[in-house]
Amino acid sequence: MLRYAQDVDGAHSKRRSLRSAEILAVGAELTVGDTRDTNSGEIARSLTEAGATIARINVLPDRLRVVAGAFRAALRRADLVVSTGGLGPTPDDLTREAIALVVRETPQVDPALETWLRQLWTRRGLTFPEINRKQAWLIPSATPLPNPNGTAPGWWIDRPDGRVAVLLPGPPREMRPMWTEHVLPRLRERGLGRGLLSRTLRLSGIGESQVADVLGDQLLRRTNPEIATYARADAVDIRISAVGPASAARAARRGPGRSATQLLDETEALVLARLGAYVWARGSTTWAEAIATELDRLGWSLAIRETGTDGALGSLLGGMPRLRRLEYLPGGRTTGVEIEAEARATASLSRAEVGLAVDARPRRDDTLITIAIATPTGVQRERHLGFLGGVQGRSRAALLASATLLRRLRAIERAGPAD
Ligand code: AMP
Ligand code: MG
Repeated sequence: MLRYAQDVDGAHSKRRSLRSAEILAVGAELTVGDTRDTNSGEIARSLTEAGATIARINVLPDRLRVVAGAFRAALRRADLVVSTGGLGPTPDDLTREAIALVVRETPQVDPALETWLRQLWTRRGLTFPEINRKQAWLIPSATPLPNPNGTAPGWWIDRPDGRVAVLLPGPPREMRPMWTEHVLPRLRERGLGRGLLSRTLRLSGIGESQVADVLGDQLLRRTNPEIATYARADAVDIRISAVGPASAARAARRGPGRSATQLLDETEALVLARLGAYVWARGSTTWAEAIATELDRLGWSLAIRETGTDGALGSLLGGMPRLRRLEYLPGGRTTGVEIEAEARATASLSRAEVGLAVDARPRRDDTLITIAIATPTGVQRERHLGFLGGVQGRSRAALLASATLLRRLRAIERAGPAD
């Protein structure tokens, strides 16, 4: 798919393009189940967004042979291998030793790294523990990746065949900044994701399997453009990605074939024709952002009263600008007040133009969800039976309330004359 990227830039023509990646999570704490491997998922998501394909994720104990074997195998298969963990100072941290073994190089203390490392202690008047000296190691084919949040620099290793291995520290607060500030930009310089464009459509009111059904196998099996669906907590996302020259003019110069933008436009139109009614946003827009945009347009503010949802709507929309009031009431109360009146009351209590009241209560295995929205143009009520009870039912109530509110606001042309 990204093969084309190679000949775009002459400087990189000798270089292998970085398309496939494997991730190694190293650490006994992971394989005994004390710590969850969150690093791999974060790196996988970031690489996928950047246009690489994750071929495999491995979780490994701190054992030299196992880690070396995993690096060796991964470096035969994938263009890029990223590891996290095993860069600590203790003898059980063996990731450096493992990669050195695989690339047949001998680690040596790097004077610049050693100076940096020593001053972390000396500047605080402490004696440098000699055990940490191995964190200043380097092999000839590695360049160090700065770690401002810890004592373990990462390693970037260029292989003679153009493959790349990246070693990152295990603690997420050290791994993350190193990844975003030093690794990702360098991978992009090396051509990762070049020529790749993507768009995301966010859907609600439809499940992922139904989306897949409507799109059909033929569309979902395409590779360029590629269509992928993701069931996220707040939406079903459809991501369309295409590779090709960025513009139609460049595409024409390169002969037959269309630009990435043309490919995206065509596929997006196909998807919208079938599922457009469910699309509520694009990109990484959140419910809070989409609703805030509409409130801004109308110049209105919002008040919310949620009942029996355990605060699910508040966690979705809390902190939103133009949210004047957020009330949470436990379920099961009987006030005898109609939900329309609640929507009006919460709005008027905070002098907001819009009042949203939602009530969730168990109905057998599912959740009965009642929503009322009061705006200056009137009050509207809806009732739905949400799939499943408990936390899932409550989160469905919050999503449904947000979707109903967004639809309602979008349907309002413009605010009435200002007073
Ligand atoms: P390291 O010294 O580089 O082996 O990293 C040690 C610490 O980083 C561990 O004690 C964990 O708390 C954390 N850690 C290591 N690997 C992971 C991972 N894959 N996901 C989340 N945390 C990790
Ligand atoms: Mg470790």
